[in-house]
Amino acid sequence: MSAPSQPLLKLRLTPAAERQVKLGHPWVFADRIKEANREGKTGELAIVYDRDDKFLAAGLFDAASPICLRVFHRGKPAKIDAAWWLGHFDAALKRREGLFDATTTGYRLINGESDGWPGLVLDQYAGVLVLKLYTAAWLPRLKEVLATIAQRFPERAVVLRLSRNIYDAAAKFGLKEGMTVAGKLSGNPVQFLENGLTFEADVQSGQKTGFFLDQRDNRQRVRELAKGCKVLNVFSFTGGFSIYAAAGGATAVTSVDISPHALAGLKRHGDLNREVIGDCPLTLVQADAFEWLARPVAQPFEVVILDPPSLAKREAERAGAIEGYRHLVAQGARWVANEGILVAASCSAHVSKEEFFGAVKAGLERAGCRTEPLFEAEHAADHPATFAEGKYLKCMAMRLHRKA
Ligand code: SAH
Repeated sequence: MSAPSQPLLKLRLTPAAERQVKLGHPWVFADRIKEANREGKTGELAIVYDRDDKFLAAGLFDAASPICLRVFHRGKPAKIDAAWWLGHFDAALKRREGLFDATTTGYRLINGESDGWPGLVLDQYAGVLVLKLYTAAWLPRLKEVLATIAQRFPERAVVLRLSRNIYDAAAKFGLKEGMTVAGKLSGNPVQFLENGLTFEADVQSGQKTGFFLDQRDNRQRVRELAKGCKVLNVFSFTGGFSIYAAAGGATAVTSVDISPHALAGLKRHGDLNREVIGDCPLTLVQADAFEWLARPVAQPFEVVILDPPSLAKREAERAGAIEGYRHLVAQGARWVANEGILVAASCSAHVSKEEFFGAVKAGLERAGCRTEPLFEAEHAADHPATFAEGKYLKCMAMRLHRKA
């Protein structure tokens, strides 16, 4: 935060960047700043003015990132104080109102930029909140953020998660990945419910904030398709799709993941949900999925799910990723029985919906399949995505008919 004697940081942008901000884009790159009244410090508030000196937006400045400003408010000028932040927090909570009943206690309360909290995610797992920061700009403001959260969730444990690139910056504030920054964490992993099924999230060191909450609706769709089917879940993590499939009446579920830790979680999820999944056998395979899928097909499955990690972590990897998806889908389709179902997902922000769906179709063409679409989906309602770079999740399912 700026020392009281310093004037508010004021910025003017290049015309193209100004247009982007007006259109609602939350990021401003450092080389798009045309004018600043002084040097900015990480975490301080900055106001963007347009060419006519009119207020355009308010954002958080980050001196260390190529994205030097992340917009959290636009439109009318406002006094950004504690009361304003609380109102802003309530707006995010309001967006989730009525989305979930008591059978779902794990979901996202704040989804970063798209909720007006750039680079900040807040997930709830039953009584535990996980706050994940993706930009150092929030570090000097953490106390304020926690005070806001405490107004609506007093006494709740809040676990702090940090994206790797801000570990060092966080250490300067005495903050560490996985630490409890409010309340008391009574145990880890934390149990929660999703559509009546019981799961655990490793909130201190699991991927993302401990669970892939973003796939909830797609898991539910798979549950509805799985009755009487033998299911293969590739890149299973802790078996979200596997448990839903078993709960939906799958006759057997095989799950493949490279991580023994993830598979241990899957086994626990099987035990926790035994009453719902009955005696559906769960087979766990620890293997590199790309190698495992490349083997000759012994026995095909009626439903195959492919949900790999992001194949394009950088824009430069986009073309390779598209070919990667094509190849993966062609390989995966070999494991689908004739008239069976393939579910394919991508979490690469750098690969657009059109590119991914195109790659899936091309992969299936390569595998000699005619397809009948079942569903295409993007972000769930608790994971809104209001700008292109925020739209990472895509999932599609189709029935495959082999060409004679
Ligand atoms: N479908 C899951 C999320 C999948 S995340 C869910 O709904 O919860 C991607 C998973 O792929 C991670 O668990 C990771 O361990 C696994 N993974 C990454 N590379 C892999 C590889 N080469 N082979 C198999 N699994 C891999």
